Amino acid sequence: MANKCSLCENAMEETRGDYPFPESGLPNVVLVYIPLLKCPNCGNVEPMIHRAKHLIRALALIVLSKPHALCGAEIRYLRKHVGWKAVELAQILGVDKTTVSKWENDQDPIGSQSDRLLRVIIRNQIKVKELHEAAVRAEREERFQELIRVIEKDYRDSRLDQLCSILDVRRSSDHACAKFIVEERDGEYYAEIA
Ligand SMILES: [Zn+2]
Repeated sequence: MANKCSLCENAMEETRGDYPFPESGLPNVVLVYIPLLKCPNCGNVEPMIHRAKHLIRALALIVLSKPHALCGAEIRYLRKHVGWKAVELAQILGVDKTTVSKWENDQDPIGSQSDRLLRVIIRNQIKVKELHEAAVRAEREERFQELIRVIEKDYRDSRLDQLCSILDVRRSSDHACAKFIVEERDGEYYAEIA
């Protein structure tokens, strides 16, 4: 069955190409050479994103490893990725709710200590969620090897040198939003900073 254009109802054609992905909530994300639906009538282009959850997570992990201070959109992205309200993040970081809102709206740059703490707790949440998902799969599908693999990887990633490399946020006044490039290979997403 042909896909219909959401704007003009014309039949869409399948193609491939780069797709800027502002729908992610991050301003500078490009999905490289992904499957697209293109409307030959009005030019509307819609991405065909497989395993969106994996894409969203790959983006969260690359934001965490950004070598410069986080920009507002990146802070908001990370907070929403782990499902926290601004007031909840404020509570954990020990700052006022309006402080978080100012960071996210680029009214006030996040300080380096808060930036590091935020990355550590968000990373922790992502890891806990991964472990929980692996544990659920292990119980349901008896995929215990996979659970052990996830635990071992988490253990390695939590070594001090590994953690420090993630937190090697260079001291700089650069709070610009990074540009991220994402490629899909064999059903997995690989994100890097452009
Ligand atoms: Zn159209």
